[in-house]
Amino acid sequence: MSAADDILAVFNDRGSEQYFGENVSQLEHALQAARLAQIYGCPEPLIIAALLHDVGHLVHESGEDIADRGIDTRHEALGEAWLARHFGPEITEPIRLHVDAKRYLCAVEPEYLKQLSAASVQSLKLQGGPMNPDEVKAFEANPYFQEAVTLRRFDDEAKVVGMETPSLGEYRNLVSRALGN
Ligand code: FE
Repeated sequence: MSAADDILAVFNDRGSEQYFGENVSQLEHALQAARLAQIYGCPEPLIIAALLHDVGHLVHESGEDIADRGIDTRHEALGEAWLARHFGPEITEPIRLHVDAKRYLCAVEPEYLKQLSAASVQSLKLQGGPMNPDEVKAFEANPYFQEAVTLRRFDDEAKVVGMETPSLGEYRNLVSRALGN
């Protein structure tokens, strides 16, 4: 099995799990995020980052109601570590930063907080709440902060019941290319 198949296999194994507190599965959420990145004309690394941004949820074993139990799994760090074996920072950095991007947007866009889903507001508290001004500055110094913010917006949108998307298999070549094979 190729590395691309390996990576995508986690969705076949666990992708049917519910996306935390939303009415879509993990696989639907991933496919919708990737589709949105394509619709917005994002470069390939960001499309792949969108597809794989929550892989950290699928490579750990804590169960679907984890935020309800008051635990922040740090899935963005888990996902980044898992993917860093295969991909460069143009894919792993937006993923690592996508939770901080929520805390960032809550600090710089007052409107943003209002449109978050209930589950997202709940996890925000566990993740530390909106950033303070020093954290905002430090976040903006990251070379991939804009990509992380863009990914975050797709993440927030990718919760639509019944949205049409390409299948997982249709992203295989994209993932393969990014792996250099
Ligand atoms: Fe997500």
